[in-house]
Amino acid sequence: MLINFNKNRVFFIDIFKTVVIPILSGICFIFWLFFLFQYPLFVFPTIFFIFIIMYFVSGSVFGGVLLAFSVSAGIFAIPAIQQTSNKFLLILEIIWIIIVFFRIEKYRQLWISEKIKLKVEHEVLDRDLTLIQSSISENENKITAINQKMQLFQSFDQMINSIEKTMNEKDLIKLLENLTKSFIAKGKWSIKRLASKDIFVNYSRFNKIPLLIADTKEDRRFTDSDYKNISSLIVVPIELENNYWGAIKGYSSDPKELFNDYDLRLLSIFVSLISLILNNAQMFKKVESLAVTDGLTGLYTRSFFIERLQEEIERARINNIPITVAMIDIDFFKKVNDTYGHLAGDAFLKSLSNILRRRFRAVDVLSRYGGEEFAVLMYHTTIDESYKILEEVRKMVEEEKFFMPIESYHPIQIRKTISIGIAQLTTEQNPDEIIKKADKALYMSKENGRNRTSVYREEK
Ligand code: GH3
Ligand code: MG
Ligand code: MG
Repeated sequence: MLINFNKNRVFFIDIFKTVVIPILSGICFIFWLFFLFQYPLFVFPTIFFIFIIMYFVSGSVFGGVLLAFSVSAGIFAIPAIQQTSNKFLLILEIIWIIIVFFRIEKYRQLWISEKIKLKVEHEVLDRDLTLIQSSISENENKITAINQKMQLFQSFDQMINSIEKTMNEKDLIKLLENLTKSFIAKGKWSIKRLASKDIFVNYSRFNKIPLLIADTKEDRRFTDSDYKNISSLIVVPIELENNYWGAIKGYSSDPKELFNDYDLRLLSIFVSLISLILNNAQMFKKVESLAVTDGLTGLYTRSFFIERLQEEIERARINNIPITVAMIDIDFFKKVNDTYGHLAGDAFLKSLSNILRRRFRAVDVLSRYGGEEFAVLMYHTTIDESYKILEEVRKMVEEEKFFMPIESYHPIQIRKTISIGIAQLTTEQNPDEIIKKADKALYMSKENGRNRTSVYREEK
């Protein structure tokens, strides 16, 4: 639009300069000749001014010639004038107008050169503006790309944070699958363990190589029935301490999203990270099973509890001593994490452990059985006695105000309750059986509205 408008403007100015102004000047000249001898003193300067202005505006040669003719006509008119004083005045006017013309011509030249200068500057500015605009849009593209990368890194960061928090192999595998998906940005991903029935995973395992099928249409190592709807596929084996552990497999059903050598290289690097993380989780599991006390609460660990329970079951059987097992679970604990954060949740677990520790005897084996679950083995205790003790514990917790260590001017205190399930040892041979019974009783407490203690009774 703007360009069109400018073009039209230039066109009209040209027409004005080359057609309208000469026609007007011609009319004025005829008018001038017509009145020259009647009113020379009045018409002469008027017409001259008009010519000068026109010449100044149009700048055409025609304007200059016309002016010269007019001056000559004025000079020829001098003898026709009767009065000497008027003759003299006309001569003065002619001289004066010629002087004015040259002065104006000087300014006109200046004006033209300024105009050219401005035009050049305008063009330079225009070019600079285009350059700036293109660099702006280039930078905008860069910013979008950076933002995308930032988002990717943020999601990476989040995932790596969750990887740091969990040592559970199943959860880790799921996280790593998602992480690979963000990393390679195409295909569907799965991490497969040792005994895989996947034909591609087995191929890579037995040939001891990563497998890249960039385009299943062109790769005939497998049959169409093996490929099914797969368009492209990658498998990279995962080794932990030089032993085959499993593999990561990615496939794409979209013919526009094919894997290439670059993806394979990227994945191979990523697999070293995966094997490090999985190896770490395995080590952690080993170390954890060796540890006696839990790092956060200082209570016995689950593995130690099970070991002791095994011993006590045998001892109780020989000596005919009653023992009970109680499982304790915090009610709606997830809410504490969700409201005050995971750290506050951990602090809560610590405070609760202290309350539990205060109430149980040294001979009782009090353990942190799971995340927010506790198990107690009470030696030499009947089910009625343990019910009494656990009810007391439940009430103590119910009445306690727990401080939440959050960044706030007003310290926040919350109340929480626990649910408990108890089972007494009867004919059970191993820890699992009695723990399962206590768990069932705990489930009853939860089912019946929480904040209560239930006893496992044999079904008849
Ligand atoms: P309820 O038992 O009454 O059914 O509800 P709940 O919200 O307590 O549910 P559940 O026992 O299934 O939830 C366990 C939650 O405890 C999940 C997790 O967020 C939290 N949790 C487990 N271990 C830890 C831990 O070590 N620290 C913290 N802060 N939270 C944990
Ligand atoms: Mg629980
Ligand atoms: Mg709970």
